[in-house]
Amino acid sequence: MKRSSAVFLAALAATVLALALAAQFRLVPDRYNPLAPLDLAETPNLMTGTKLWLMEGDPRACAAALRKAGVTLTEMPEQTDRPGCDRRGTITLSKLHGARIRQEEMRCDIALRLYLLDRHDLQPLARQHLGSGVAEIVHFGSYSCRNIRGRSRLSQHATANAFDIAGFRLENGRTISLKSGWDAGGATSAFLHDLRGRACLLFNMVLSPDYNADHADHFHVDMGPYMGCN
Ligand SMILES: [Zn+2]
Repeated sequence: MKRSSAVFLAALAATVLALALAAQFRLVPDRYNPLAPLDLAETPNLMTGTKLWLMEGDPRACAAALRKAGVTLTEMPEQTDRPGCDRRGTITLSKLHGARIRQEEMRCDIALRLYLLDRHDLQPLARQHLGSGVAEIVHFGSYSCRNIRGRSRLSQHATANAFDIAGFRLENGRTISLKSGWDAGGATSAFLHDLRGRACLLFNMVLSPDYNADHADHFHVDMGPYMGCN
């Protein structure tokens, strides 16, 4: 081995060891320690994506994080309607942080990201653009045992791994719908476009009215294998 390579490897090992020791002795704050549980109250930072990734497919850790943040939820048993339409690691809930939702069952990975979106993006953006917080997210639901429209492949909705957001009821009584608001211009459009950008940082796939006519009236968000922000 070249001397320079040996020096580099030694420096790398020393850095990793130093970070591990620092975390052990709590010199690194939990919000930057990838092994510390995600605190949903914390403003997301560069480590949040890693923490979310480490929790993916771990419904117990996910439910614990939501409960710690004050969310009331019910963990659901595994259910299979027909091959491909499995619900695993799902929960039902009817309130995120500030916003209610009509009670719905969904994979905890989806609920976790909806909570973060509500608390750290939706509420501040609504106040900034529209001068009011959001009382309710109006939605078309999560679980639906079906294919993607016009295709032979199952939708992420078939495993409750997706959620469709149709609009919002604001605390001041106003209603915002994707269908009429997306292209309306002004503050409503700015709010919805900014919100899509934030959702794209949390979910693997986001489809907006820009994507196709099937999505003219909702945001589709999912945690499937494909990445996209459309
Ligand atoms: Zn959808």
